[in-house]
Amino acid sequence: MKIKSIRGFHDILPESIRRWHFIEDAARRIFELYGFSEIRIPVLEFTDVFARSLGTTTDIVEKEMYTFEDRDGSSLTLRPEGTAGVVRAYIEDSMHAKSGISKLYYTGMMFRHERPQKGRFRGFYQIGAELIGPQEPASDAELVTMLWRFFEETELTQFLELEISSLGDQNCRPQYKEKLVEYFTPQKNDLCENCQRRLQANPLRILDCKEKKCKEIAAEAPSMLDNLCQECENHFNAVKENLTAVGVPFVINPKIVRGLDYYTRTVFEVTTQELGSQNAVAAGGRYDGLVEELGGPDIAAVGFAMGIERIVLLQEKAIPKGFPKKVDVFIAHLGDEARKAAFPLAIELRQKDVSVEMDYGNKSLKSQMKRADKLGAGFTFILGEEELEKGVVKVRNMNESSEEDIKINEVVDAYQKFKS
Ligand code: ATP
Ligand code: MG
Repeated sequence: MKIKSIRGFHDILPESIRRWHFIEDAARRIFELYGFSEIRIPVLEFTDVFARSLGTTTDIVEKEMYTFEDRDGSSLTLRPEGTAGVVRAYIEDSMHAKSGISKLYYTGMMFRHERPQKGRFRGFYQIGAELIGPQEPASDAELVTMLWRFFEETELTQFLELEISSLGDQNCRPQYKEKLVEYFTPQKNDLCENCQRRLQANPLRILDCKEKKCKEIAAEAPSMLDNLCQECENHFNAVKENLTAVGVPFVINPKIVRGLDYYTRTVFEVTTQELGSQNAVAAGGRYDGLVEELGGPDIAAVGFAMGIERIVLLQEKAIPKGFPKKVDVFIAHLGDEARKAAFPLAIELRQKDVSVEMDYGNKSLKSQMKRADKLGAGFTFILGEEELEKGVVKVRNMNESSEEDIKINEVVDAYQKFKS
């Protein structure tokens, strides 16, 4: 039997890796401009790190985690998201003692046992950022602006909408939850089985249910935005003002719940109509209680994560031709002596940052020229017996189909001059 990859896991092949690099490079560049530094954290944590931060009644903790017992009996989990691990590292390394503001970003694979479909995997990649320390609304706005700038830079805003809302805080959310319970209880029997359970455990999550009947009932439910306390309302207004001031377009969607329990106040999602039901491309929000919840000091934070596979799917629509790998120079050689001369020439060019390919054996000139074409070479250097005798290289400009003989010991300089 042929060996296969695990269902829901996928390879990213060389033909599409340049799309990934383009996205990752843009994220790094923009995030660094906003003062963020990369942090690399393990893919494995104690299960508790996630159970305590995400909340035990969330989809992820209830049914999506890859959890197993280590040899010493401790329970470990492959990270389903990045924030919990980043906060664990933040506390463990006492980052709060080093600086009042920590700006961290990460990229890497996440693991969730979900039903695989287009844009939904069991092993997938996220890029995320966490701004830990400040509680002022200007920090929410800066983070969301950075995310939007990233989507502008990658030419994807044409497909995207930024939705924001507020989930309130420990002052106003409990009352709101009660209102929701009051609203849903008389219609309990019309809710799906999951939501009937949620009504006790986590009524906010009913607002997020994908079942048609639940959606209909939830449409008329009281809105968190009508029930914010004064401080949360001021915070939300300031975030909106800041975003408007820098021209970041957003819509208000009071139905944003977010799957995780740790969010407070600002929440946001970047959504698209282009990917079917996998419509969330990035999501995040403020999580002022999490650092303390995981054993650290009472420190505020706001962050987001985006799914790279979904961004790549969108990019395929925005930039269909992608970013094919091109070689600068192909060296075609004929005969043993020419091959011996071509080898150091290739190495020298590469040392000068010119990408070079050549044949290792004795293929015909025709087949070498074919490969040069296939590789998209800008120039082909032809070294045959005749050229060797004259001490020259025949330099063929592949786009203009023009040729010129250049002395072999001058060709590297000549190429560089032409290129600059
Ligand atoms: P969804 O509603 O699609 O399940 P989510 O709310 O579970 O998304 P988050 O936990 O907020 O997603 O993760 C942030 C981003 O990571 C999502 O917006 C999405 O782009 C991406 N993402 C989440 N789960 C997956 C998955 N199984 N496969 C691919 N990308 C994913
Ligand atoms: Mg999910």
